[in-house]
Amino acid sequence: MSTWQEVLKQRSITSLEALAQRFGPEHFPPEHQERLRQAIDNFEFRISPPMVDLIQTPDDPIWRQYIPTIQELEVVDGIVDSLSEDRDSPVPNITHRYPDRALFLVSPVCASYCRFCTRRRKVGDPEKIPMSQFESAFVYLEAHREIRDVIMSGGDPLMLSDRRLELILARLRAIEHIEIIRIGSRIPCHLPERVTPELCAMLRRFHPLFINTHFNHPDELTPAAVEALGKLADAGIPLGCQTVLLKGVNDTPEIMLKLMQGLLKARVRPYYIYMADQVAGAEHFRTTVDTGLRIMKALRGWTSGLANPHFVIDAPGGGGKVPLQPEYVESFTEDEVVFRNFRGERYVYRQPRGPAPPRKHLSDPEYLFEAEPRKRKTPERDSA
Ligand code: SF4
Repeated sequence: MSTWQEVLKQRSITSLEALAQRFGPEHFPPEHQERLRQAIDNFEFRISPPMVDLIQTPDDPIWRQYIPTIQELEVVDGIVDSLSEDRDSPVPNITHRYPDRALFLVSPVCASYCRFCTRRRKVGDPEKIPMSQFESAFVYLEAHREIRDVIMSGGDPLMLSDRRLELILARLRAIEHIEIIRIGSRIPCHLPERVTPELCAMLRRFHPLFINTHFNHPDELTPAAVEALGKLADAGIPLGCQTVLLKGVNDTPEIMLKLMQGLLKARVRPYYIYMADQVAGAEHFRTTVDTGLRIMKALRGWTSGLANPHFVIDAPGGGGKVPLQPEYVESFTEDEVVFRNFRGERYVYRQPRGPAPPRKHLSDPEYLFEAEPRKRKTPERDSA
């Protein structure tokens, strides 16, 4: 049986020629070739075998996520580092923005490269996530006792060998103040073969360890992917999913509902639905905030609360995640709150009687939590 490395090396598609051979040259006309090559020069191209096998027709939801297009060159208001992660990088491979957690980029590569990737400026380029510069990252993490949560990301951390991963995890676990470790990985979707019994046995030695995976369409929950997720769950690893709202991929309530329910069945708790970031080269994936709110309205009340993730915008410029909710409240006074439920039926909740303090606006400083006002930072984003 082939190893996961052999599967990836021997059966992935990595060139325009191989794409044309597999799906037909008519989808990659000569007049587009030069610009397509430019798109591939701008951002690495590889589609892993399971993703290749999932493509049914050109421009279907899987195709759209992985096949380069000339639209990637049409930059309107996209930003290269849309979340300003580099601004908050004190040493190579670390982004430290929020008081108690840090992002640690441990791998420059992924099994497949998603054309909408927020970190496309770095991912696929070993020079930009240097594997030789971990020491300064460990020294930084050791010195900053306020960091209790480290998010390993990249690229995809599960693309590292078991041995390398184990060395990193062991070093992190040796730092007393690091309470939890998270891994952001799209491997269960992109290359389920990678989730071997050996990997699971090794990972389970480093609890509390969480994995946030990334699925965008219900078709991605193949039997192999579900089996891989089951193995990780059996190793005691709590699994979450970060989904990106993508035009032409999952921007309907029906698809999103099916995905969220499918994830739960696969023992994965939907964690976030992100608005697609304003990243240069991926603007054709963006849809409206209103579309996202409509989807959230189709989930809340209509299916298990467990299948309702947070819907967030990662604020451009590094402002952190801001949750968005459909509007349920019609009016809000000192006496009562009037709202509608998920069916649109109107209800009234009476406020407690007696003198009540005047209602303050949410922007009032009283509503803001500032543990350390001077150091206030914004949340990190898992990758993959
Ligand atoms: S979204 Fe995740 S898996 Fe996809 S290319 Fe970016 S880092 Fe890799």
